Parts: sequence; C-alpha cells; structure tokens
Amino acid sequence: MAILRFQALKESLNRKPVPVEEPARRSEIFAQNVFGEKAMRQFLTRDSYKSVMDAIKNGSKIDRNLADHISTGMKEWSISKGATHYTHWFQPLTGSSAEKHDAFFETVEDGSAIEKFGGGALVQQEPDASSFPNGGIRNTFEARGYTAWDPTSPAFILGTTLCIPTVFVAYTGEALDYKTPLLRSLQALDQSATEVAKYFDKKVTKINATLGWEQEYFLIDSALASSRPDILLSGRTLLGHSPAKGQQLDDHYFGAIPSRVLNFMRDMENECMLLGVPVKTRHNEVAPNQFELAPIFEEANLAVDHNLLLMDVMEKVAERHYFKVLFHEKPFAGVNGSGKHNNWSLSTDTGVNLLSPGSTPMKNLQFLTFFVNTIKAVNDNEELLRATIATASNDHRLGANEAPPAIISVFIGSQLTEVLDELEKVTDGKLSPQEKTELKLNVVGKIPEILLDNTDRNRTSPFAFTGNKFELRAVGSTANCANPMTVLNSIVAKQLKEFKVEVDELIKNKKMKKDDAIFNVLREYIKDSKRIRFEGDGYGEAWEKEAVKRGLSNNKNTPEALKIKKAQSTIDLYAGLGVMNKVEVEARHEIEVEEYAMHIQIEGRVLGDIARNHVIPTAIKYQNVLIENVKGLKEIYGENFKKYGKEQLGIIETISNHIEKINSGITDMIDARKKANKIEDSEEKAFAYCNEVKPFFEVIRYHCDKLELLVDDEYWPLTKYRELLFTN
Ligand code: ADP
Ligand code: MG
Repeated sequence: MAILRFQALKESLNRKPVPVEEPARRSEIFAQNVFGEKAMRQFLTRDSYKSVMDAIKNGSKIDRNLADHISTGMKEWSISKGATHYTHWFQPLTGSSAEKHDAFFETVEDGSAIEKFGGGALVQQEPDASSFPNGGIRNTFEARGYTAWDPTSPAFILGTTLCIPTVFVAYTGEALDYKTPLLRSLQALDQSATEVAKYFDKKVTKINATLGWEQEYFLIDSALASSRPDILLSGRTLLGHSPAKGQQLDDHYFGAIPSRVLNFMRDMENECMLLGVPVKTRHNEVAPNQFELAPIFEEANLAVDHNLLLMDVMEKVAERHYFKVLFHEKPFAGVNGSGKHNNWSLSTDTGVNLLSPGSTPMKNLQFLTFFVNTIKAVNDNEELLRATIATASNDHRLGANEAPPAIISVFIGSQLTEVLDELEKVTDGKLSPQEKTELKLNVVGKIPEILLDNTDRNRTSPFAFTGNKFELRAVGSTANCANPMTVLNSIVAKQLKEFKVEVDELIKNKKMKKDDAIFNVLREYIKDSKRIRFEGDGYGEAWEKEAVKRGLSNNKNTPEALKIKKAQSTIDLYAGLGVMNKVEVEARHEIEVEEYAMHIQIEGRVLGDIARNHVIPTAIKYQNVLIENVKGLKEIYGENFKKYGKEQLGIIETISNHIEKINSGITDMIDARKKANKIEDSEEKAFAYCNEVKPFFEVIRYHCDKLELLVDDEYWPLTKYRELLFTN
C-alpha cells in the first residue's frame, strides 16, 4: 500500500479548524508593529522625526548625525515590543525577500552587556550575501554588496526581529536588487508627471504611483502537500490526472469559505494588521482550493514591500493551520492558475487621482492627458511590458485559457472609446472657439465620474482601464511586483517627458494656447496608439491573428520574451531616466535567462525521478498482480484462460506500453539536458531548455497520468488531484 499517501490522507481528514483570537476592531491593532508616524513621534526627538518625515515626503537625505538618534529611538521602540534582533530586509534578484539577523545585544569592556543599535547599523550594512544572483556585476567589479536604509518604507517587527527595508547595491553603485530600480523609476515618474500636472494645477509638487495588488493562491493541506515531491521541490504538480470534477460547475467561486481556511485567513489578516498591511477583501477563486486577497492600495514602493511581506506572513501562518500555500502560477493542470493583478494609478500631493475622471472639463482634460499618455506608453513598449511578466512558471498561464494572452493590449470600455474617437477628430492646429466649447461641453465635459465599463469590464484583457486605475492582469502570482511596476513607471515617465516637450513646443513655436496644444498632441497619440486598443475577447484565436496584423508581439515563452530586456531601446530607455545603466540591464537579463534554465532543469529532474522511481515501480507491482491473476486463471481453466483473462492481458500490455514510453522519454530528456548543460551562453542554454528539454514533460506526464487511471488506487503512491483539491 502507498503508505505516505494514505497516512497523509488520514491526517488531513482529522483536522479541525485552528482557533484564532481576533480583536473586536481591527483598527485598534493596525500598524502596531510598524515604526510609523505615531511611534516615531513618541520615540524620536523633534529634529529626528522631522528629518525622517522629510525624507519620506520629499526624498531628502537624512543627516548622518541624526542617524544615531533615529536608530536609538527605533531600538527602544522595538525592544518595548519584544524585539531582540534587527535585520536589513532586502529584495535580492531571487524574487523573494532576504534577511540576516543580528542581536541588539553587545558586550562592553567591563564584562557586562547592553542592547545597542547604532546609526551606522541602521543606515548601512555589508551582509556577506555573495551567493545571491548578480549577473556578473560583482565579478566584474570585484565589489562587495551593501544594504542601505530606505526610509520611505517604514521599519516593522516580524516575530522578534526589527526589519529595516533596505536597498541592496554593489559598492560601485549598481543595483543588485529589485527595490533600487523601482525607487529610481518612481522618482523619474514623479519628475515628469509633476511637470505635466502643473499644466492643470500649479500647486502640485509631487506625484506618487499607487499600487493595489490582488493576490491569488492555493491552499493545500500540509500533510498532502508533503506527500508530493513535485510540490515540495518545484511548487507545482508535474503529473496527476484531472479529477472527475474540476471547476466546471463554478461552485467554488465566491462560495462559502471553508472553516479551516477562514481561520487561516483571519489569523493571517491579524498579522497583516499588526504589520500595517491594509488587507481588505478575501474570497474563494475559480478553482477548487484557490483563494484571493486584496488590500487597500498604497504608494507603490510600500505596496511592493507589503506584498512581499504578505507572502512571507502567509507561509508562516499557513504552517500554524497545517496548510501549505502555493503561489505557483499553475500548480495544477486543468484548473485555473493564479495571478497577481497590479492596479496602478497616479496620485498628486494635492490628493487627486490623475486617472479618475473629474467633475469639470478641465479636470477631465487632465484625466485624459494621463490616460492617453499611459496608453501611448504601453503601445510603444508593449513588448517590454510583456517581458516583465515572463517567468518559467508564468509561461503556463499566459496564453492558456484562463489567463490573459501573451499579447499585450489595452481595454478601455465603450464610453472612453467614444471619447477618444471624438478627440481624434480635433482640428489640426489652433481650435476655433466653437470647437473648443463643443469639445468641453460634449466630449470632455461628458465623461461621467463613474464609468459604466468599470463594473462590466473585460476580464480577458491583460491591461484594462477599470474606472480610476489601470489593471495589469498578466502578472504572475509568484512575482515581485517591483519588476512590472518599474517598467510601467519608466515607460510612462518617458512618455510624459516627451509629451511635455511636444506641448511646450507647440505653445512656443506655434503660439498655441495650452489647451489647443494639449488637444493637438493627444490627437496624434490617440492615432498612433490605436493598434494597442482591443475591446474584444483576448482569449480567442481571432485576436491572435488580428494582433499579428497590427504588428503586436506575441512571445509565447520566457527566453523569447526576455530578448527585448537587453535590446538597445531598453538600455536607452532606462539610461535616459536614470533607472538602470547598461550593466544593470544586462545583468538582469543574464540572471533571468539563467533562472529560467535552472527552473526547467529542476522540474525535469524531479519529473524524471518521480516517473522512474515512483510511477514505473508501482505500475510493475500492479502488473504483477494481474500476471498472478492470469496465471491463476490458467491453472483453473487451462487453455480457456484467454477467454476469462482477456481484459487482464490487455491491461498488462497497456501498462508495458506506457512504461516503455515513460522510460524512453526520460532517457531522451536526460540526453537533451546533458546537451543543454554543455552550452556556455546563458541565453542559448535557456532556449535549449525551453525547446529541447521541456517538450518531454508533456509526453512523460501523459503516460504517467494514463497509468494513474489504470493502476489499483491502493497502490498509487502520489496523492491524487481530487485529494489535493477537495480536502480542506
Ligand atoms: P475589483 O477589481 O475586485 O472589482 P476594486 O476595483 O475596488 O475591486 O479594487 C481592486 C484593487 O484595486 C484593490 O486592491 C484596490 O486597492 C486597488 N485600487 C483601487 N483604486 C486604486 C488606485 N487609485 N490606485 C491603485 N490601486 C487601486
Ligand atoms: Mg481579481
């Protein structure tokens, strides 16, 4: 009998919901473990407080002399909350967060000890983190990496450790993490967006990008998850036959949340509250055992940190509830995968959401300016935006039936389509007073504050306008949002910069009024970016054909999609904005193709191992039972045994055929892997893994899954889909 599987099943069936204590009002515990404004006011001197707030609001540098005061305040606050250690919390290019804990505890000369946390330790550290991927940056410069405090994201306490969000850079200044380019892109966006916003309101001095992510995930009983080596080692099932019932009935979506899961969610949300992560909604998703949560949106850098922190917290809290969280984009074949929608907008320091239609024609012209510029930016950089969501695991999702296609397009809804169609007809040159009045009254003035399409939006679009924000829906559920956000911020920053130049040029050289100039430039942008707008079914084949005609890219796998990341146009884009230099851009490409190859390599090894060491021996065991049976029939019936043993003989042969296909498939896959491993160039190697190794996965899996249907359930060693997906 398949001992592990049945033990795990027994364990999972005996689970009870783990009790959770919840405060009556969440607001009471919100951000209790965050060194935010309230804690700073209490624990910092006036000068220190002002200097940190100034750094947060205006990006000013914190005086080194004040750093000692700030660190002491932070230490006192965190010790009062039970912290014993501190760590710089950073985002190396592995995609997750990293930390190295140091105790506050220090000995002093007289042999006694104190708790100490100096300004130097707050501001900068040199973790010996030489094993993180760096794409050659550190080899080239033989420089050490160091972490430096990012005051715009507040310190927090996780367990008994004070965590200080930091950037991670090489000694020469090259970024070794995701946060640094994100911060630079936010700065670039702030600069160009503020300049443009000043056309409409001189009082605007700062613009933040806002991000509200929606996180999808699967929750699997921990014993069941542990019984599957593929889930443990690759985060997804590499084989497994679809259950008789999947998601056809849509009975899981928005259904009642199972009580064990609900307790996990409540517990996790409590933790989030303490950490100041403003989680707001929770519900079942489409696939069985799939769920989603979303927070209230925040400034993008903070939101990125909070998403990473959340993923960490979810894993920890899940353990308490005997669950394993699967963030993988496609943990199960045949049912929906998971994404992480990135809702993105721009907000001014005067409190205006620039992507929200307003109540006056002037406000709407401002809205249209940012709206059209974003569409133009996506149009001009669709391939780069596609590249930013490319990973081995997201490849399973993009282009499959339930996820946006690998083609980037923009959905804006019928009302705004009409508005843009009207704007396209605006006179070339100066506008007559009648035309302007007409425009203001009937086009710009008529954009309602609440758009109908907001509720009835196109779920198949990878980049949809949803009333007061754009929603990038193709991001993978495992992704660090910093990556797509850096691209989006950068392309919009560049676009707005160009817009400003063009408008100013018309005002200066063509003596146009500001409004006329804006209308003129927008008209051209609308024309230029028509091909990116698509309102139809993004999952359909017709769209794939249409997209080719429109000249849109459709890069279906990661190595192909990543090419644009090191193109000259990308290097120029980032260099022009000061987001990344050539070395940083190329290093990232190198890391990503390497990571891709490693990912496929690991999956190939795990699949080969499971198929050869678990599936084939099990099939043989069952085949032997059948053989014994046939032998018995022969004993009883003599030559007549073929009549009674016909089906058994058939199954015996079928099993042998499947075994043969699996075994030869594995042998061929290993050969392909060996060949791929000899390739020096990382990109070429990634292509070899993609085109030569990966195709064997399907073949091997197919025959394993067929065997699963044939072999006695009692013998089958791998926990089945129906058990993984319908137990909680
Ligand atoms: P849904 O998309 O599920 O209908 P909402 O449209 O209310 O729900 O919001 C989805 C997500 O969009 C939430 O995480 C929310 O915080 C975020 N969001 C709402 N407004 C903005 C904004 N101005 N900027 C960024 N994110 C936003
Ligand atoms: Mg959603």
